[in-house]
Amino acid sequence: MKSDQTKIPQATAKRLPLYYRFLENLQASGKQRVSSTELSEAVKVDSATIRRDFSYFGALGKKGYGYNVSYLLSFFRETLNQDELTKVILVGVGNLGTAFMHYNFSKNNNTQIVMAFDVMEDKIGQEMGGVTIHHFDTLEKMLPEEVTVAILTVPVHAAQNIADRLVEAGIKGILNFTPARLSVPDSVRVHHIDLSVELQSLVYFLKHYPV
Ligand code: ATP
Repeated sequence: MKSDQTKIPQATAKRLPLYYRFLENLQASGKQRVSSTELSEAVKVDSATIRRDFSYFGALGKKGYGYNVSYLLSFFRETLNQDELTKVILVGVGNLGTAFMHYNFSKNNNTQIVMAFDVMEDKIGQEMGGVTIHHFDTLEKMLPEEVTVAILTVPVHAAQNIADRLVEAGIKGILNFTPARLSVPDSVRVHHIDLSVELQSLVYFLKHYPV
């Protein structure tokens, strides 16, 4: 099985979790093969793109057969480290942060929030979803060495300073839920999810490009 991740284009890599989740559900329902058309309808990616994506990891669909579900899943598991639990931290236990603390990520994708940080005194020391909230001042002391990913759910004005501290402390990936455009060194990756912009964009598309 070919699994040289450096050869997979970024756009393809971004679609892998989408494929993975769908294929897992498929396997759970007992299906052993799937066509690119079926996949395409389910994950809303055109089938030519799916075929190209899959060809990068040596999965060539057979005409009239489709793809072997367990072959694809084992590839994805390896590529996405699904066999390993990835531990992440969360900074900012406000409304959104609280929702994430209660959301069981590991059930869906093998990532788990293991520690949270905030600055509000009455939140410090509290436990939420089995995870303790620490003061952000103690970040460097508390951050486990193996943790390199942080979810950022703080107010926009605090985001850049916090990101700087996270990077200093060794964080390599930030999932940014604030509207702030963070600047970080090239060695750090930021994925930005601005919920209000996404919602606005959805409304715009519905209005101007009705399906
Ligand atoms: P809430 O109703 O709890 O205020 P919210 O999501 O609307 O929720 P925000 O003002 O966005 O609140 O703040 C989110 C969380 O980030 C809060 O719990 C706040 O205490 C925390 N926070 C603010 N500044 C920092 C900081 N510098 N470091 C860490 N956490 C912070």
